[in-house]
Amino acid sequence: MIILLRKQASMEEKTQLLSLLSCFLESHPALEIVRIGHYETIAIDAAALDHMQATIIRNHGVVEDVVTVDTPYKLVSRAFYKESSCVVVGKDHDCQEVAIGDSSELAPVVIAGPCSVESRDQLLASAQSVKNAGAQMLRGGAFKPRTSPYQFQGLGIEGLKLLAEARQLTGLPVVTEVMEPAMVDVVAEYADMLQIGSRNMYNYPLLRAVGSHPLKRPVMLKRGLSATIDEWLLAAEYIVAAGNPNVVLCERGIRSYDSHTRNVLDVASVPVLKELTHLPVLIDPSHGTGFSRLVPVMARAGIAAGASGLMIEVHHNAAQALTDKNQALSPMQLQSIVEDTYAIHEVLNGVKQSALQIA
Ligand code: PEP
Ligand code: MN
Repeated sequence: MIILLRKQASMEEKTQLLSLLSCFLESHPALEIVRIGHYETIAIDAAALDHMQATIIRNHGVVEDVVTVDTPYKLVSRAFYKESSCVVVGKDHDCQEVAIGDSSELAPVVIAGPCSVESRDQLLASAQSVKNAGAQMLRGGAFKPRTSPYQFQGLGIEGLKLLAEARQLTGLPVVTEVMEPAMVDVVAEYADMLQIGSRNMYNYPLLRAVGSHPLKRPVMLKRGLSATIDEWLLAAEYIVAAGNPNVVLCERGIRSYDSHTRNVLDVASVPVLKELTHLPVLIDPSHGTGFSRLVPVMARAGIAAGASGLMIEVHHNAAQALTDKNQALSPMQLQSIVEDTYAIHEVLNGVKQSALQIA
């Protein structure tokens, strides 16, 4: 159940409610007050309270209302919060702010950049070219989850520093992957958005760590390689319940048996997620298909299905890319995806994107 707190509640009253709840729920993980839209909320497992405890909570002076949500995920559920959440990226660094959300006034966001940060020259050239092509955010992996331990693993902290330099050069906020709880501090210091990769969607200590981090950096949660939509939403719930409501989902395809595509991009997950959750949803047609020739058409399909944006891998010399070279697009191909994205959004919403300026 979700406890809604009164707007006027003082810090002292809230702390008192939290300690009462932790007495009632001995084995429950740390309880957090989370802001969802206009509400301050605390989510708990209703079954863990007996009748008397539930009545005490319901009648507590700080409690405005108690809402029962029937889905296994609570705070991310649209059954609880009917509006669509908007996640703003780039607030804490000197760069442009980018709003990701599902509203006709918001342009879809195109996030682009190389799979991996490979070198200073490569990253700065890529950053400038994706900006020129119309991307609003830069991506690039500094810590790479590779299938083989003998493959390039990323530049690590050096890569984070290069991403910060690329942000300074272009004004684009950056998103990069964090793979382990111990690295959340340093990645959050340099990045504007933390990516949880597909292989880590089930890494619950990592989900808690990005959720409880004091900077509350926006999180892009990619769908697990073989995750159901409910498992994915429960992974998002871990982050939000730990205190960070700034979560964006990213559909990147699920594992199947057919090698004609790297993964099966589940475009239908977009309208399904829009029914189930208020969180924004992005499409990653690069990992979703694995082949550059398939990326533009699936990018268009994702936007047409209602995604709030795209994540696209771009390399200025794809043949030389250290990771994921088969799916990398040129900056020119990215520019045409950006143009298509605005055109489709305009058809869907009847809104002119006068904001689009291709430098
Ligand atoms: C990536 O975005 O570079 C990546 C590794 O993606 P995924 O976790 O979806 O495989
Ligand atoms: Mn990649």
